[in-house]
Amino acid sequence: MSISALSWPHVFEGQRFAVLGLGQNGLPAAQTLRAMGADVIAWDDDAAKRGAAQTAGITLARPSDSGRPDALILSPGIPHCLPTPHPEAAVMIARGVPILTDAELLFRAVRATGSHARFAGITGTNGKSTTTALLAHIIAQAGLPVAAGGNLGPAALALPLLQDDGIYVLEMSSYMLERIATMRFDAAVMLNLTHDHIDRHGNMGGYIAAKAAIFARQTEADVAVIGIDDVPSCALADSIVPHPARLVRISGHAKANIFADRHILTDHSGAIADLSTAPALRGTHNAQNAAAAAAMAIALGIDRATLAPALASFAGLPHRQKQVASVAGIDFIDDSKATNADATARALDCFDRVIWIAGGIGKDGGIEALTPWFNRVEHALLIGRDAAIFAKTLAAHGVSYEIVDTLDRAVPAGFGIARQRGIATVLLSPAAASFDQFANYAERGKQFATLAQSLTVPAEIH
Ligand code: ADP
Repeated sequence: MSISALSWPHVFEGQRFAVLGLGQNGLPAAQTLRAMGADVIAWDDDAAKRGAAQTAGITLARPSDSGRPDALILSPGIPHCLPTPHPEAAVMIARGVPILTDAELLFRAVRATGSHARFAGITGTNGKSTTTALLAHIIAQAGLPVAAGGNLGPAALALPLLQDDGIYVLEMSSYMLERIATMRFDAAVMLNLTHDHIDRHGNMGGYIAAKAAIFARQTEADVAVIGIDDVPSCALADSIVPHPARLVRISGHAKANIFADRHILTDHSGAIADLSTAPALRGTHNAQNAAAAAAMAIALGIDRATLAPALASFAGLPHRQKQVASVAGIDFIDDSKATNADATARALDCFDRVIWIAGGIGKDGGIEALTPWFNRVEHALLIGRDAAIFAKTLAAHGVSYEIVDTLDRAVPAGFGIARQRGIATVLLSPAAASFDQFANYAERGKQFATLAQSLTVPAEIH
């Protein structure tokens, strides 16, 4: 049991919870709810996960065998509605049991202790993790107690109890937001909205409705921040009014309440920060994230003077355009998190000319959508299952490429070509999932870093 779980008072004494799904959210949820005095049973369809929970002292039982608990805490990855409800969730719904996410229970527990710690919620299709980490960093730099987690981890119920001056910063996925009931965010942001997770939400309308729940129950004392850089978010900002919360529109490039005027983050009072001094916040997408974090920080009463140094000292998250090595003047950038063309477009946009490493399991449409950025590519090195498909697109657009199949060939090859042709950047931004060759995108990124860091400059031959 984690130390944070032990530090909670018995706020759920006499309540009975069922937990379904014992992964990175469910297991801490079961442990912490028990530490909070609740009667907890838990289940997972995977016997190994059940075994791990049993070892951790959790009572195993199917929710359907446990009568009518006060709530079912359902892991975000398990559907209770579309495309088809998990059978256990269906039974709970039939019995009228509320289906909740762990963050809702965190909120209830904090309030039950009497703490007035505040909650900041972050959602959107892209940039959630970066904005969550950035806002948490700003709050920490301001000297306030902060606990950040949720979708990016640690799980909401693995976070410690904060007192009145503390702030929770939670990344909220649409899967979590469809399972909150009383939770209210003092400051909430919708970064952007593009097509995603339609299988779970039925259609784009269902997806937007699930995400818009981040603004539910807000009052005049709260702030709703909305990015206006895409059509659906812009429409949401227009349609949300009248809303009791104060609306702050933000943008990575266009005029708004807080926006990046080229690289100067600005609001009605003038310049907030020069983003060109923030190495981990390159590109207009990160300008949007910076604007969102600044809007939230200001809404939470953080001193404006804290913002510029905090943005500049933000280290960034691993595998998102992170410089992992610099050898003989050539920078190696790990953007392994870019598992689709849209994410890779953000990275290519940040560089004039790159040696580009791409490939893996491509998404629908492959890399055709990257055509406007092909002029940034000096040479592409293709790896993974769909290398030949990517090659076909590059050939059709006259982009120089070769298929090297694996990362351990791509990195030295990229280094050699970069030196020969005087290119300063080797970029891993695969525009593809990693599962054909790696356990996950993080492993792919780590291997890239290890390979880049082990490069040596051959001694000059005279
Ligand atoms: P999420 O947690 O929503 O998946 P991340 O912060 O992990 O978002 O960023 C994932 C990728 O999405 C980044 O590597 C980048 O390519 C892209 N991205 C980040 N922020 C934004 C944004 N504001 N708008 C569009 N794309 C973004």
